[in-house]
Amino acid sequence: MEEQKVCPVAKKCGGCSWQGISYEEQLKKKQKQIRKLLKDICLVEPIIGMKNPYHYRNKVNAAFAHRRDGSIVSGVYEEGTHRIVPVDECLIEDQTADAIIRDIRGLLKSFKIKVYNEDSGYGLLRHVMVRRGFASGEVMVVLVCASPIFPSKNNFVKALRKLHPEITTVILNVNDKKTSMVLGERNITLYGKGFIEDTLCGCTFRLSPASFYQVNPVQTEKLYQKAIKMAKLQGEEKVIDAYCGIGTIGLIASSHVKEVISVELNKDAVKDAIINAKRNGIKNVKFYQGDAGKFMVNLAGQGKKVDVVFMDPPRAGSDEAFLSSVIKLAPEKVVYISCNPETLARDLKYLTKHGYEAKSAVPVDMFSWTEHVETCVLLQRKNI
Ligand code: SAH
Repeated sequence: MEEQKVCPVAKKCGGCSWQGISYEEQLKKKQKQIRKLLKDICLVEPIIGMKNPYHYRNKVNAAFAHRRDGSIVSGVYEEGTHRIVPVDECLIEDQTADAIIRDIRGLLKSFKIKVYNEDSGYGLLRHVMVRRGFASGEVMVVLVCASPIFPSKNNFVKALRKLHPEITTVILNVNDKKTSMVLGERNITLYGKGFIEDTLCGCTFRLSPASFYQVNPVQTEKLYQKAIKMAKLQGEEKVIDAYCGIGTIGLIASSHVKEVISVELNKDAVKDAIINAKRNGIKNVKFYQGDAGKFMVNLAGQGKKVDVVFMDPPRAGSDEAFLSSVIKLAPEKVVYISCNPETLARDLKYLTKHGYEAKSAVPVDMFSWTEHVETCVLLQRKNI
């Protein structure tokens, strides 16, 4: 591997908590952590690391502010504060995205665009978000502004696209609230389609400004392939994709099974998921909006038959309503994808106490230079 790079603002930014630790060492630490947590539960396969652990983040946010001398800075908030740490380039962010943010900063003065001041509420530009489809090459720029009126917006977009012809859509997002949330609710498309598309494991997904999408697409592809392989699908299964987000896992698995039922709490994500199914001509996946636990309790109450459950809950993990319904539905296999090893271990203990055997776990490094680790676990129903 190439020589380790160092970031000059690592301490202040706090994003890369494992700066200064070699990549090999990071993988060893993650492997050890998962082995320790799951030692009485299941076998842990070797961690899937990155070939090149830099610039993997496909979504970049930058906050903008004025310095006292009037110059403009962009970057991230210093941990726990609202002071901006200037960032020109970041070791884990996409380089095209960082270059676009630098150039937007450079254009502001000649366009006389004022940066928003959190205290006075005066000024226009608050944040810039850039998302890039790693497979498609499509690039979205979101200008988060305190007002829908952006002076000379057409010329601004023209100037920006001249510097970065790779930009495929520019969106003005209106955030006029006193809030630490980056995005407001209203989006006005200034250029292009208002969304980008990206491809993962052969399926194409539409990403709007607020859509949830894994931030490390290179490793996500490996994670999903592994999850689907672990389930050893034969083509006739009835599958649940719980906590499905924009539908990724279920849509990718759909060509390997008879039908998929997907459930997700976030309304916008479900809308995206339905569009994604259509976009890919997939007809054997149904989406439900609601709490996954309640949904599973209902299914179990109806005595439905399910063969495989994929579950990918948020950091808090799953809940007893969900897990107890899995037991009732008694699928042959459960594939649990988790971004939080602690809640994973807790939920696995529940399932293994109630008739399931955890066969194997695979850690996947989705968040290099940080302590976070993703894990995929296969559980099999014991024959009683
Ligand atoms: N499987 C998707 C998303 C995983 S992130 C992917 O890989 O892209 C976890 C998802 O769970 C988020 O989309 C979140 O909105 C959803 N979620 C959180 N709590 C939920 C609940 N109680 N019921 C259903 N979905 C929930």
